[in-house]
Amino acid sequence: MTGPNFDYDFAVAGGGPAGSAAATALALAGHRVLLAERDRFPRFHIGESLIATANQAFAELGLAERVAAAGFPEKWGAQLTTHDGRAGRPVDFSSSPEVLAPQTFQVCREKFDQILLDRAREAGATVREGCRVESVELAADHVALRVAAAPGVEERLLVRALVDATGRGGLLARQLGLRAEEPGLANVAIYAHYSGVPRPAGRAAGDIRIVARHDAGWFWVIPIDERLTSVGVVLPKALYARLEKGDPERMLAASFADTPAMAELMAGARREWPTRVERDFSYRATRYAGDRWLLAGDAGSFLDPVFSTGVSIALESGLEAARALDRAARAGDFSAAAFRGFDRVQRRRYAVFRRFVLAFYTPWFRDLFFQPGPPPALFRAVVTVLAGVWRPRLTTRALLELFFLSVRLQRRFRLAPRIARRDAGAGFPAEGSA
Ligand SMILES: Cc1cc2nc3c(=O)[nH]c(=O)nc-3n(C[C@H](O)[C@H](O)[C@H](O)COP(=O)(O)OP(=O)(O)OC[C@H]3O[C@@H](n4cnc5c(N)ncnc54)[C@H](O)[C@@H]3O)c2cc1C
Repeated sequence: MTGPNFDYDFAVAGGGPAGSAAATALALAGHRVLLAERDRFPRFHIGESLIATANQAFAELGLAERVAAAGFPEKWGAQLTTHDGRAGRPVDFSSSPEVLAPQTFQVCREKFDQILLDRAREAGATVREGCRVESVELAADHVALRVAAAPGVEERLLVRALVDATGRGGLLARQLGLRAEEPGLANVAIYAHYSGVPRPAGRAAGDIRIVARHDAGWFWVIPIDERLTSVGVVLPKALYARLEKGDPERMLAASFADTPAMAELMAGARREWPTRVERDFSYRATRYAGDRWLLAGDAGSFLDPVFSTGVSIALESGLEAARALDRAARAGDFSAAAFRGFDRVQRRRYAVFRRFVLAFYTPWFRDLFFQPGPPPALFRAVVTVLAGVWRPRLTTRALLELFFLSVRLQRRFRLAPRIARRDAGAGFPAEGSA
């Protein structure tokens, strides 16, 4: 009996960080891989601030030196401030002993994604840009892809298994009805790139600045090269609907004017790129793998970007997908059961970060975060996870439980002073798991 005639061992749909990481690792392991990317690179993408655990992925991909030499601004952590700039809290990744390589980068994604895609090609993957995966047919002994290199020019390709890394478009998640929205995190972002945004002196110059609004919203300020700074506001949908109506540019400007710390920062800034809007951006998959398929990066789940987890999770999950497929190839078993471990890891990591994100959108978390002298051990435990270490030591996990207990207690007993906020209709979602 003969089996199907495979064009490649594996296909990866999408050449963002998740897809490039998966294709690189699979090619390095000796598999024949096709990476099909819809766009032609370089192309714009949002998601510019990395967290420390991305360094492990760079090392695994053989990219540590190339990324370090690319001239990206060095990031050591985050500077968080209240809307009026009166309270601030630095988050320094190097303060946690569990963070092995604390210094990371802010990246211009055109350049960063190109480095990753080039690496996949160099590792031996067949990389086809301008090549859209139109549909996927899952069969017992193969996966058939219909790909289009140009309108009307289609090909049918057979592979053993597929990594879906198509990002927020979520090719398979939509086809198989796997997407579960996060109603408590249905937020909207408005953003652009600016010149003339002042930066702090010294090591903090490359950090992300996060400015909390006096409602549930917040701003990011990310230096992406020597001149340009990415600036955006994230608002729960209800608040977004109440903003002054108009074009996104005016809405963003109105939002800066509404927040003294941002008004000051943006006073001499000049917009250099079009203003863009992203909506509805938190969801997870009900399953991350099945017979002959795996979801990596945003194609599986995506969390609100407040803690800059997206790219690091994409890289990690791409690598995990490659490892799972390599094991499956050696065992000759591409069934959902063979990918159970992969599925479990995706769920657990999402749950750990989701807990922090949901908590951030409560006023009690912010009260504790901005209090003048947080207990150092407790705060270090929080920094550990914010740096990306989502499976920390047992003691850190115990401290995190204490931290989340304090958040709950803050609601009733005011352990820390309250930071000023607009209480009526401030857009804070339900308490969630905080
Ligand atoms: C407002 C906002 C701010 C963010 N800020 C941050 C941040 O500061 N830090 C951070 O880490 N993350 C951030 N993110 C998240 C980050 O953008 C993503 O998590 C990250 O890009 C995910 O990588 P990925 O490879 O999974 O998907 P993507 O980077 O989206 O790549 C998917 C690729 O698939 C291709 N594709 C799509 N459909 C097809 C198809 N049918 N066939 C072939 N190719 C296809 C696309 O062209 C794309 O290149 C932010 C997100 C948003 C919305």
